[in-house]
Amino acid sequence: MATYRGAIVDMDGTLVRGDELLSGTEAGVRALRENGISLLLFSNNPTQPPERYVERLGAHGISIDEERVLTSALVTAEFLEAEYDERDAFVVGETYLRDLLRERGFTVRNDPDSAELVVGSIDREFDYDELARALWALEDGSPFIGTDPDVTIPAPERLVPGSGAIINAIAGVAGREPAHILGKPAPQAGAAALERLSVPAEDCLVIGDRLDTDIALGEHIGATTVLVRSRVTTPDILEESPIQPDYILDTIGEIGELLEN
Ligand SMILES: [Mg+2]
Repeated sequence: MATYRGAIVDMDGTLVRGDELLSGTEAGVRALRENGISLLLFSNNPTQPPERYVERLGAHGISIDEERVLTSALVTAEFLEAEYDERDAFVVGETYLRDLLRERGFTVRNDPDSAELVVGSIDREFDYDELARALWALEDGSPFIGTDPDVTIPAPERLVPGSGAIINAIAGVAGREPAHILGKPAPQAGAAALERLSVPAEDCLVIGDRLDTDIALGEHIGATTVLVRSRVTTPDILEESPIQPDYILDTIGEIGELLEN
């Protein structure tokens, strides 16, 4: 393997599952650090602040700076701030996303007619009335943005609907796709991650358990991609996908061997 200086590492299904540390995580993180590789953790989950990930890993003795944790919510907020003049937002999303947007200078509107911008994201209390309000908020041509494309996400027992499912519901009723869906594998997500790492893409690994988000992001930016096997990428999915990783590991704990070869 070439010499790498940075790694963009997925959280759920790669390092942790819920509050549980996956086997191999401690060894994998240690091996990356011993090889002089800076870590950036990147989660497409738009409901949790970076502090939460710092705590989750810290509880298992793995320390990481808050600035080294990126989420689809942060990428979305930074993108909206930089690219749009509209500041009155109708947000289908959970508390953290709403609070983050307020912190970044947006006004979160409950009245769909006074919103100039519509953000779609996972909301576990989403219902028919909220879908109707999203439709009305989009009627006047307001820009429509999604936080991340994950249609399903792993929960402790089974897969459950993610942001992509809600974005698709809104897009379906409004008859209009979002102008942008941020989070992995969007180009904006790749740029935000590389900027935080300050390492060129060719010196970076992208490590994750999903082909359509993690590995696709790595392919888009021109990094070396490493798939970690998990229940979201079954052998069938892997075989049929046009997106293929450079390396496949059973757990991130095997990354040390890979770096030695
Ligand atoms: Mg994952």
